[in-house]
Amino acid sequence: MVDRSWERRSAVRVVPPARARKLAKVPFVELADGRLQGVVSSGSDVARVYVSSVAAATHAFSCSTNNNRPCGGLGAGYLCKHLQALVKEAVLQYGLERVARYLKADVGEGDDLVDRLDGVKEQAPAAAVFSRFLRHLGYLELPVTAGPVPEAHWFPAGAS
Ligand SMILES: [Zn+2]
Repeated sequence: MVDRSWERRSAVRVVPPARARKLAKVPFVELADGRLQGVVSSGSDVARVYVSSVAAATHAFSCSTNNNRPCGGLGAGYLCKHLQALVKEAVLQYGLERVARYLKADVGEGDDLVDRLDGVKEQAPAAAVFSRFLRHLGYLELPVTAGPVPEAHWFPAGAS
């Protein structure tokens, strides 16, 4: 008889929370690799996150799910709501001047940084950003635990 108890132990059960977990709209943002990039939670689906990024200088932007599905709200020349939320959060965390300098965006007093990002859509891989986000969660926010991590319940367990 094959002992399958390890499967039960190691399986991560994804249980819908009784109430929708209140997630930070933008749980992760960083200025790295020549990009403003981060993870933005879906407004409508707690089990979905988007990886959004804007390149410095060119302002080419990208938004897709962590499974590399393109964001439906992204236009060829305008930012989706995830990118807008990402930019807003970056300005909150780093300050407008620092974010604008990093992106080489020309922002005057009272300007909205989003309006100054006039790049075009590009496809940037989401995996690296997403895995850094997971490490960020693991190292910074979660206590060390061997059990199921309730904070991770909203991550998509499969590809769908
Ligand atoms: Zn988007």
